Amino acid sequence: MVASPPDASPSIHVRGAGPTGSLLALALAHQGQRVLLQDPLTAPELQSRSRAYAITHSSRRLLQRLELWTPLGDALVPFTRLDLRDAGSGGSVLFGQQDLRRKNRRHQAIGWILDHRSLMRLLLSRLEQSPHVTLGLGRDQDPMTREPAAFVVAADGPSSPTRQSLGIDVFQHPYRQGCLTAKVILRGVAPGGAYELFRPEGPLAVLPMADGSYQVVWSAPMQHCLDRADLADGAFLDALATVLPEGVEPDLLLDRPAAFPQTWMLARSLRQGPAVLVGEAGHRCHPVGGQGLNLCWRDVETLTDLVASQGIGPRTAARYSRRRWPDLLMVGLATDALVRLFSNRHPLLVAFRQLLLPCLALSSPLRRLCLSAMTDGPLRVGRPLPD
Ligand SMILES: Cc1cc2nc3c(=O)[nH]c(=O)nc-3n(C[C@H](O)[C@H](O)[C@H](O)COP(=O)(O)OP(=O)(O)OC[C@H]3O[C@@H](n4cnc5c(N)ncnc54)[C@H](O)[C@@H]3O)c2cc1C
Repeated sequence: MVASPPDASPSIHVRGAGPTGSLLALALAHQGQRVLLQDPLTAPELQSRSRAYAITHSSRRLLQRLELWTPLGDALVPFTRLDLRDAGSGGSVLFGQQDLRRKNRRHQAIGWILDHRSLMRLLLSRLEQSPHVTLGLGRDQDPMTREPAAFVVAADGPSSPTRQSLGIDVFQHPYRQGCLTAKVILRGVAPGGAYELFRPEGPLAVLPMADGSYQVVWSAPMQHCLDRADLADGAFLDALATVLPEGVEPDLLLDRPAAFPQTWMLARSLRQGPAVLVGEAGHRCHPVGGQGLNLCWRDVETLTDLVASQGIGPRTAARYSRRRWPDLLMVGLATDALVRLFSNRHPLLVAFRQLLLPCLALSSPLRRLCLSAMTDGPLRVGRPLPD
């Protein structure tokens, strides 16, 4: 780690202390960069979301590098089987640890589910302890910038005021599907199991949580999501029971279901002069496949590596934008294609799925290819993985 006087003005200003901005500030502080991390939310507000993230091996590697993996410990719930089913064609595929690439296989999981609160608690406590980070949290905080930062990072979420003030345009495709999330107790799920169920109205993910409960991410036309979010607890569980796989029963609803619109969004450029966009300030995709936060953290990894090798400034910003765009575009296209292919009853597409899923179920190289693209990112397919 490079030493720097903690009382000097921050040279990097990170706007937004969500999971992306906080992790980036910590990663840059690890290199000895002086960082101002600012957010209108207070620390308790930043931790208060009821949400769980699917964590892939690309995120695992970054958290290990930053010495956060072991401290997250019990908050990371591994899943060793991913059961993919298509209600429209009746096909199914079971992904297991043997479908991972060899370097990932020894980590004993296809992926992990991480609760937002545990993650933010750890990130904020590490940030408070870092002599290289100045925290400006809450609406009343003086951001404490004595001189303009040399490098500005917008991590201020999908409606990013920074992106708008920089005048960076976005490509946007709003989905008719919305997404409803709920935390439930389920009976009948095999230990270590997670589900991705494709249904004509939209995909449904069932993800195991640390306390033995499950996070349900249920995509459907937005009005259906809103109607289901308004149901009484018993009626909601009855509706959920009709879409879960056979043998899996919902017992209890643990929080109020919340409905959100879904959009595929990609900024036309991820930089403007010495300012860059990271995380959802620059891109968003459909939650199918649990790619969201992992994509945001690949931004963090790329930007941190570039700052380490060539410092801060417009050239780093330009390289960052060029390097991240292909991954963001490919994952955006792939998730969009999955939604279009599976969320319908079109006879030709159903026939295609009736061929595709048995091929996947029978072919281990094909399953390994799909899992590698999902867990390491499409640009790492066929390339050596880092340790
Ligand atoms: C319903 C739902 C379910 C999801 N499920 C999953 C999932 O299962 N797995 C997964 O990986 N991802 C999931 N995601 C996506 C995931 O939540 C995002 O990828 C993640 O929150 C992005 O983090 P971020 O830090 O980039 O943005 P955000 O979390 O949006 O953080 C942005 C921060 O910027 C702050 N801010 C706003 N304006 C300013 C300003 N002017 N100055 C400074 N700060 C500002 C905000 O207060 C906020 O703290 C889901 C998203 C939704 C909506």
